[in-house]
Amino acid sequence: MPYIKRYQALKKSRVAVSAVVTAMLTLMWVEFSDMLLCAYGWIERWLVIPVGISISLITIAFWIAFTSLFGRIYCSSICPLGTFQDIAAGLGRASRRRPQGDYRYSRPLNSLRYISLAITAICWIMSIAIVPALIEPDHMYSAFIINAVKPVWGHLNNVIARIGVATGWWSVTYVAGISVSALAVALSAVSMLTVGTLAWFNGRTFCNTVCPVGTILGCVSRQALWRIDIDTDLCINCGKCEEACKASCIDLRDHVADSSRCVNCFNCLTVCPNDAIFYRPTRKQLSLPMMQRIDASKIGATTQAATDAEYRCSVPGSRQHKSSYNTTQPDETIS
Ligand code: SF4
Ligand code: SF4
Ligand code: SF4
Repeated sequence: MPYIKRYQALKKSRVAVSAVVTAMLTLMWVEFSDMLLCAYGWIERWLVIPVGISISLITIAFWIAFTSLFGRIYCSSICPLGTFQDIAAGLGRASRRRPQGDYRYSRPLNSLRYISLAITAICWIMSIAIVPALIEPDHMYSAFIINAVKPVWGHLNNVIARIGVATGWWSVTYVAGISVSALAVALSAVSMLTVGTLAWFNGRTFCNTVCPVGTILGCVSRQALWRIDIDTDLCINCGKCEEACKASCIDLRDHVADSSRCVNCFNCLTVCPNDAIFYRPTRKQLSLPMMQRIDASKIGATTQAATDAEYRCSVPGSRQHKSSYNTTQPDETIS
């Protein structure tokens, strides 16, 4: 069976798990009776930073161990804010008529990641709740559901109950205590709108620049055993995997996926036309990218740019290769 077919099954499983987990958490946080909380409240214990209950060192140790083996599966399948971003990103791609993706590789913003992590840690130590609540993924998502969605759901429930009483057709229990601070609603809405807008245009930008959990997991997944691996013998540099990468972490110059930013969405695996990209423990790519081995101070920027352009144009089938033909005048000779 071609690898692309196997990876389609893997991706579908990943999407199914993320949809089920996010639906379970959302329904649990939005309902008023606590029935779902009693039925499967344990699911919150699997969140790295759970809401309203103490942090479990066992859970953190589990996710660090799991990430060191398989990468950031937590970010692709468990985190509800990750699923929220995937929905926003999918809608953004659909609106641009690029369902497979139109992303580009971008350099990691490690300084921003570590500053955000340091600020979160300092605020935690000093018991300043407002900053972590605005950038911790589980708090952000649950606060949005509880502050913004739950009141709407409560009022809708009471409208349905009133119609039932008026018509005598059904009986629905009224819910009381639907009051929430306007500031809490505004903060939740603004933070989610910001994350959603970033995702709409650029995929998982929040995950790889601001999220403190993503930064911690990224430090671990940098050396994960199972990673995205590109076989340079098979790759035709078509660029489809780079365009599909919502984490903007596939660098086709070096044929490397930055595993510290890869969120294991498996999108890249299902678009490759030549079965050249894998999720596996073995490596076909260079362990350290070629260009990172060269001391940048010893080569001029112009030389490097020229080398990059020459390399890309030399690869048959690459976008750069095609564009070099397109832009050449008929009487010019391609050397
Ligand atoms: S990086 Fe943060 S927000 Fe993104 S999926 Fe991972 S835990 Fe969630
Ligand atoms: S490298 Fe592949 S699996 Fe990782 S984030 Fe990018 S598209 Fe998803
Ligand atoms: S051939 Fe596959 S690995 Fe190479 S650029 Fe295209 S999609 Fe990516």
